[in-house]
Amino acid sequence: NLSQEHLSVATTCPYCGVGCGVKAVPQGPQNATISGDAAHPSNFGRLCVKGSALGETLGLDGRLLHPQVREGGQLRQVSWDDALDRAASQWRRIVDEHGPDAVALYVSGQLLTEDYYVANKLMKGYVGSANIDTNSRLCMSSAVAGHKRAFGEDLVPVDYADLDIADMVVLVGSNTAWCHPILYQRIVRAKEARPDVKLVVIDPRRTATCELADLHLPVKPGTDVWLFNGLLAYLARIGAVDPAFIANHTQGLPDALEAADITPEEVAQACRLKLEDVLAFYEAFAATTKVITGFSMGVNQSSAGTDKVNAIINCHLLGGRIGKPGMGPFSITGQPNAMGGREVGGLANMLAAHLDLDKPDHRAAVQEFWNSPRIADKPGLKAVDLFHAIESGKVKAVWVIATNPIVSLPDADQVKRALAKAELVIASDVVTDTDTNAFAHVLLPALAWAEKDGTVTNSERRISRQRAFLPAPGEARADWKILADFAQRLGYTGFDYAHQSEIFAEHAALSAWKNTLDALPRAFHIGALASLDRSGYDALQPVQWPLGRRVFADGRFSFPDGRARFVPTVPRLPVNTAGGEYPLVLNTGRMRDHWHTMTRTGRAPKLAEHTPESFVDLHPQDALLCGVREGELARVSSAWGSMVARVKHGGGIARGSVFVPIHWNGQTASDARVGAVVNPVVDPISGEPEFKHTPVIVDRF
Ligand code: SF4
Repeated sequence: NLSQEHLSVATTCPYCGVGCGVKAVPQGPQNATISGDAAHPSNFGRLCVKGSALGETLGLDGRLLHPQVREGGQLRQVSWDDALDRAASQWRRIVDEHGPDAVALYVSGQLLTEDYYVANKLMKGYVGSANIDTNSRLCMSSAVAGHKRAFGEDLVPVDYADLDIADMVVLVGSNTAWCHPILYQRIVRAKEARPDVKLVVIDPRRTATCELADLHLPVKPGTDVWLFNGLLAYLARIGAVDPAFIANHTQGLPDALEAADITPEEVAQACRLKLEDVLAFYEAFAATTKVITGFSMGVNQSSAGTDKVNAIINCHLLGGRIGKPGMGPFSITGQPNAMGGREVGGLANMLAAHLDLDKPDHRAAVQEFWNSPRIADKPGLKAVDLFHAIESGKVKAVWVIATNPIVSLPDADQVKRALAKAELVIASDVVTDTDTNAFAHVLLPALAWAEKDGTVTNSERRISRQRAFLPAPGEARADWKILADFAQRLGYTGFDYAHQSEIFAEHAALSAWKNTLDALPRAFHIGALASLDRSGYDALQPVQWPLGRRVFADGRFSFPDGRARFVPTVPRLPVNTAGGEYPLVLNTGRMRDHWHTMTRTGRAPKLAEHTPESFVDLHPQDALLCGVREGELARVSSAWGSMVARVKHGGGIARGSVFVPIHWNGQTASDARVGAVVNPVVDPISGEPEFKHTPVIVDRF
């Protein structure tokens, strides 16, 4: 009704990278009714079960409401001044004694762009170290690296509307039905309207996403490069290529074809697939112009993740299936603001505004814009390396913001050892009791979704506002404000923001600053938004970049010569293969109704019902060999650690594989952190961990 509409606040869902628009109507200080925002162009009012239950996750149970510092092993409530003074004085001492690379920030794709921007500016422009990495490293850094290798810039060249008109959608390593439900529903609707639309799912597991698939390829874990190299070779062999596009807009095809010299028969053998299924996929791809290849964690979370991304992109370049409506390689982002983090250069090997840390003129431009005393001149430590450097004592202070690495990183017990050893652990969080916060020396209360204001960017490069609709509880503050106050205590100028709109305007202005440094301007350019004042920012409607044009529509890519690169991808197996003491392969992933380590979704009874506890899904015959039975507790062990979960036969898993969800933490009676089991192997280019392939054994608990 009218009064409800008057009270409703347009904001954005805090969960996945689909970035759905939400309408919230406050019902008292800690409650609200939630519905989809019909005016938001990314979801048109639709919400999945997680988004719909957001109202159930509000409330102050377990919230961190006051700054605390650890004294004599115990946390004690202190004033903000006291907490920040202590944190800043210890940080300064460590930098003075050991240099800027002895401190680090470890942040999160949950942060708003304004928070991310300030964190990045603080570390790279003022502390003078690029030791700022993010949990987005764990989810999409292989896509970033693949985009940069192929396009010269980290660009996702597909819009959601392209899914409505594609004639074939290939989903690789993506349980889209559960992990990006609103996108999946869009594919379903396209298929309902046009039953000829083909859906191909490439996934070792038979997931919910396969239910509507015309073809499911249960590829052997880790062999995607063989499959897409085989597709490239097949397309070239039958002449399903776009010679004009290749000649005018690409380079490097001969080398890519040389690396992809493989027959469909060899692909079937390497990928453990039926030859007729491989050929059916190849023939359908060759016969269809409008193909979108969506890929997600099954591609990215691999020691060959970047090559997998480029093997997919190569196939799109060969037929010119990019930069036009209804086609393209489509990285489906995991977190709500992983894309915003990329815009501000929130990874240890990136610079703000899609500029490059390894180019002196780019570094000089950012330093000049920030008017900062220094600028980091080499890449910082990526997530897994960062926590090893903390354990070895090279990095002595770390500030963890909005993430829980003792649960989410691979070899998570190593992260515990690292934090136990650090001289200074600062943690900013919305909840008090997490596995990571137990190691904090200074604990800072942050605003949560529903209380904070800023922007996020979703998987189709659409910037949307997150708006506060509940009051700030206790003494909680915005993350950007905490970082700016800390920076000022270190004596840094350039952080006297009065409002988040000023940070956004600065971020937008930086995207336009010397955008013509290279022969081709960068596609990330939102300079038109730099003039937004506070009221314009408050009223900002969802806006997609590049403003007013399709990515690569002109066939010009972001390299100096304007050409995309075919990247040779030589197939290689996962680093640790199953056998001997550890005969099974552990695969990890999300559940439909939970998000990350469940600090929010764990509060909603409706969501908890779907999957009340962690489980290990394995084939009944493997269970027999392991001596475990459905419904019993079992221990899953690798060379790195172990966890306990209940045995389940989900029906979708192949012999030799087991699946465990990522969400459960170490605060249960039996430690259910699957991160403790996962091998700390990373992709050599992207640094993304191989979450999808750890050799394990399952036995009775
Ligand atoms: Fe939220 Fe993602 Fe569901 Fe949309 S699809 S409502 S963004 S969890």
